[in-house]
Amino acid sequence: MARRVRSFWVNTPAIVENPEKHVAELEYLGADELFLLSIVGEGTLYPSKYFVSSDQSKDRDLVGPVITEAEKRGMRVHAWVVAFNRPSKELSAAHRDWYVINRNGESCIDKPPYVPSYLWLCPSQEAPIEYLLGGIQELVERFNVNGIHLDYIRLPDVFLPEALRLRYGLERDREVYKPEFDFCYCDTCRKGFKKDHGIDPLVIEYGSRHWYEWVSWRADRITDFVTRFHKSVKDYDTTVETSAAVFATPGLSYRYVFQHWGVWPLDHFEPMIYHEYYGKQVEWVGEAVAEGVSTGRKIVAGIMLEFLRKREEVERATETAIEKRGAGRMFLRIPHSASGTKGEHQVGPCQSVT
Ligand SMILES: [Zn+2]
Repeated sequence: MARRVRSFWVNTPAIVENPEKHVAELEYLGADELFLLSIVGEGTLYPSKYFVSSDQSKDRDLVGPVITEAEKRGMRVHAWVVAFNRPSKELSAAHRDWYVINRNGESCIDKPPYVPSYLWLCPSQEAPIEYLLGGIQELVERFNVNGIHLDYIRLPDVFLPEALRLRYGLERDREVYKPEFDFCYCDTCRKGFKKDHGIDPLVIEYGSRHWYEWVSWRADRITDFVTRFHKSVKDYDTTVETSAAVFATPGLSYRYVFQHWGVWPLDHFEPMIYHEYYGKQVEWVGEAVAEGVSTGRKIVAGIMLEFLRKREEVERATETAIEKRGAGRMFLRIPHSASGTKGEHQVGPCQSVT
């Protein structure tokens, strides 16, 4: 019998006025552990000496009081960290060169793909990598948490899940390549790839043999970051778990957002199996779980309650996920929508995990 753990992604700013009440509600819902939003795109949700703090937390720690409530109730806490998506005005003004550039040579700061908040750091450059790792180090030293959980650990979507495509004027049934959604072509990325493969990525044609080397090279940069993150957390404290919210299946993750997560060294993975974004029925949750566990990694299935409109659908999603776990261990992780707030549906599953 597999161990079952019930976890919730928790939008910290939404519960900060009354953490005691909301954490008690989560306890009532059977929460064993919380994935607690701690660093968002704009910055930390606590005053930081190292990182940009978000506007609401320059003088106020939003995270600590929730951890205290969770600890009182014996829940485990993972600090949830938005990684490469950093729409901070302060950071983008100070370090324009850290941000990704599309195939047309435009910075995401000037031409953000899909939505205005899509400002992303380049995973090939040493300076932004050290900045992120330093911020995570401060977080793990400051709070008593059981784990660190990465989100937005990828490049912008070169392709969108099919049910989201029409919103952006794309064809629903086909993956149409657009250079404005293809990142990163900064000098560091171009030179790095040329050094390894002898060709400038700018001259590579989409779909050619070199194209697949270029996709793989970019995925390796994300993997390098994840490997360094994992090592730095474990060097600090081997008992702190590492994990990441990844796209629904290893195949989709690699093709759409350069996540080769089957080879990442993390302790567990929370694929966001939000079936409706992919135009699928509830049963697909089980298929995605089966593909995930085939990598040999420990999977926590992330399901979207908003797409499960009846009690029976929640049960079906849960059952199919558990049934398809194969030899793998199976957990459930559910986005928690506190105080009636709801994530704005922009692009990509992560956006609605609130
Ligand atoms: Zn780059």
